[in-house]
Amino acid sequence: MLPLAMLSLRMLPLFMLLTAALLSPAPLRAQSTAPKPTTTKTAPAKPALEVVVLGSGGPRPFGRGGSSFVVLVDGTPRILLDAGPGAFVRIGELQLDLDNVDIVLLTHLHIDHTGDLASFFNARALDSDGPITYRIFGPDGAGQFPKTSRFVDQLIGKDGAWAYQTTFGADETFDVHDLAIALDSPPTKIVDDPSGLTVEEIATHHGDCPSVAYRIGYKGESIVFSGDMDASAIPNLVQLAKNADLLIFNCAVLDPPASPSQLYDLHTPPHKIGEAARDAHVKRLVLSHLAPDVASQKLAVRKSIGQSYTGPVSFATDRERIPVEKGFLQLQEK
Ligand SMILES: [Zn+2]
Repeated sequence: MLPLAMLSLRMLPLFMLLTAALLSPAPLRAQSTAPKPTTTKTAPAKPALEVVVLGSGGPRPFGRGGSSFVVLVDGTPRILLDAGPGAFVRIGELQLDLDNVDIVLLTHLHIDHTGDLASFFNARALDSDGPITYRIFGPDGAGQFPKTSRFVDQLIGKDGAWAYQTTFGADETFDVHDLAIALDSPPTKIVDDPSGLTVEEIATHHGDCPSVAYRIGYKGESIVFSGDMDASAIPNLVQLAKNADLLIFNCAVLDPPASPSQLYDLHTPPHKIGEAARDAHVKRLVLSHLAPDVASQKLAVRKSIGQSYTGPVSFATDRERIPVEKGFLQLQEK
């Protein structure tokens, strides 16, 4: 009895399939007799550059991921910029294909920008068909903060906390570069791919934590990420961001004196962000790394920035996609 019942159950899907095919020949006929379309549908064009926001928050947990972005080049995810806590979850939610994400840019090594870095390596390797060589860039060390190469080593190096990761899922090689952190260091091109993809960086200032900003360029489009920085680094940021199509500026404080005074040694207030965007002539400004008080007072922040910068301003949200190509930007601004 039992084997027969199991056999019947196993055959049920096949039976249902056959019945469905016999009972519904119409779609098949319609397909064969329908007039051929005169125009062929083409897939929508991909923007040259696109940013996917994985985390638009900062160190305080209030529903936004810690700072993290993925940059798509011609529609393909290529660059991870910062890896704040929550990046791993957002990557899964968005079903991002990590197969070509081999460039990692770290603005600085605070936890809200790097907490998910090892999780990213994990996710990337488990999805990989072959060995991976990462190019990782981040600031040199100072004080309590290790240089980026040591930081990566402490995570997944031979004596690191998760040394197993380098062969878990894929064989991984880590090519880590420590970037100059003195404010008078010249801007440096750190990626110059045959495809035309470029990355430049410049030192910024974020209190006692070494920090850098990045500019990504491709097919004449450009995105600049300020990272966390206080106002003392604005001349460097303006230099890097000249005429950029998109500036993503981390906005973690309100204009003084509305935020705790010690935070102004770490972050740039909105009115200074507006001046920087104006002086750099950027075409669009997106505010990210939002603190709860900034997120709840967007009108005041907009007004402050609007005193000097007249271009489009928006507030980043997790999972948002920001295409960077003239046509796409115009479309979004409508
Ligand atoms: Zn931060």
